[in-house]
Amino acid sequence: MESLLSETLLSVIACPQCKGSLVLQKEPLELVCPACKLAYAVVEGKPLLLVEKARQLNS
Ligand SMILES: [Zn+2]
Repeated sequence: MESLLSETLLSVIACPQCKGSLVLQKEPLELVCPACKLAYAVVEGKPLLLVEKARQLNS
């Protein structure tokens, strides 16, 4: 499930805020937007691409 996420989804999904590309991060499994410094959770193999649900990263 995780490899499917990284290979297939990662090529088509984008940050809902800036439309930039996301970086898959493990432990915790999150999709990170370096530009917005936001981390989107992955719930049951599906990325939760909502800005209001994203976790703010400390720079
Ligand atoms: Zn972004």
